[in-house]
Amino acid sequence: MIIIGTTELTLGRQRGVFYCPGCRRQTTYRHRIRRAFVTLYFIPVIPLGKTAEFVLCENCKEPYEHWVADQPPEQVEAQCRNAALLHIFRVMLLTMLADDVASDEEVRVLRGFLASIGAPEPTNEQIERQIEFLQSSELTAAHYAGQVADELTWEEREQMVAGAFLVASASGPLSETQLADLRLLPLALDIDEDRFRQIIAEASERLEV
Ligand SMILES: [Zn+2]
Repeated sequence: MIIIGTTELTLGRQRGVFYCPGCRRQTTYRHRIRRAFVTLYFIPVIPLGKTAEFVLCENCKEPYEHWVADQPPEQVEAQCRNAALLHIFRVMLLTMLADDVASDEEVRVLRGFLASIGAPEPTNEQIERQIEFLQSSELTAAHYAGQVADELTWEEREQMVAGAFLVASASGPLSETQLADLRLLPLALDIDEDRFRQIIAEASERLEV
């Protein structure tokens, strides 16, 4: 009896240096190609074609689109930073929406905070569009933060917490739901309790100025 099957092998040894979107710094990668083979007696003999090409970061061990390795570092970092700013913007909006109202004061604080971290000022239309999207997603701020945490640097995670706290405090004392949601943020972002309290204390000082 001839035993025939298929298998997938990951090939490629070429290494290089690239700007890793996960590590947010320059590091080494391996270029990998995953290829399907027909096997005969469990030995791969006939290649069936290229099924996937990617680069594997040797630091975080995550796979990325192979063309990322050809992009200039500044360009990759700019894309990562833009994505992070959008995530911070959305978590602030979700915190605002926890009590179902987006007051003028909250929007003013949102704009002020985004400007302070170098984000472009969102137009009213952009804010409305994001609110519509976020309301249909039925996500909470903590859920959203947990989903994107891996894409953020530690500084960006802290900016996210400070922004959420500031916007939640914009229209007087925090509501029960805002408070409950805010408490889940450090867990979602892997920030310990002590550091969380420090971030809140620093953000409160900004409120008083
Ligand atoms: Zn990496």
